[in-house]
Amino acid sequence: MIVIKSKEEINKMRQAGKIVADVLYKLNELVKPGVTTEELDCIARDYIESQGGVPTFLGYHGFPRSLCTSINEEVVHGIPSPKRLLEEGDIISVDCGVTLNGFIGDAAVTYPVGSIDKDVERLITGTQKSLERAITAVLVDNRIGDIGHAVQSVAKEYKLGVVRDFVGHGVGRNMHEEPQVPNFGKPGTGPRLRAGMVIAIEPMLNLGSHEVEVLDDKWTVVTKDRKWSAHFEHTIAVTEEGPEILTRYE
Ligand code: MG
Ligand code: MG
Repeated sequence: MIVIKSKEEINKMRQAGKIVADVLYKLNELVKPGVTTEELDCIARDYIESQGGVPTFLGYHGFPRSLCTSINEEVVHGIPSPKRLLEEGDIISVDCGVTLNGFIGDAAVTYPVGSIDKDVERLITGTQKSLERAITAVLVDNRIGDIGHAVQSVAKEYKLGVVRDFVGHGVGRNMHEEPQVPNFGKPGTGPRLRAGMVIAIEPMLNLGSHEVEVLDDKWTVVTKDRKWSAHFEHTIAVTEEGPEILTRYE
């Protein structure tokens, strides 16, 4: 069952989303060579708690930290660590979830660390553009397949692999609600979008093949070919007036 949110509920999600957006905006300044992923995690947790929010990921199925920090060939679910230092030329995908007054916001950004290779620039730009195009498909009466198709089309233009094993999702009182929102699909297929649905769209695109595997820590997802991966995500409400991004950070 796909939960339809009331205007008040979407307003609560907007407030949770604002904290997520603030975190991702702040991290843009802090991501630099020499910083550890644990430092980023602590700053995020302190800020979220100072706003009365709870880091949604902390303790989720036993996840030990507040952020997911995934570097280079890591796709998603990387665990912040005091041993992991950012280096010039790296990229880091940061995923952040916040629960506030019972509702959740969920978003992710891939940041460059200093100056990066041309191919890696293409990876980040293509992934960001695929999310932007997917958001334009978030219209009442469109279908979930239209969203996946939009991501896939941009991935093709930028010659990037589309991760299939992990997908976007409905979001609300729970981080993962129906429907699933794959980053691939046929236009005009899948569940129909209705006003009041809220979904997290999260393209994970790779410089190489779409294939991924999980490391021995049971969390970190990496590309099988170890080529680099990027991840962007927003929480978006379907409204009669069009898509409303609840985690916008600009
Ligand atoms: Mg997320
Ligand atoms: Mg998500």
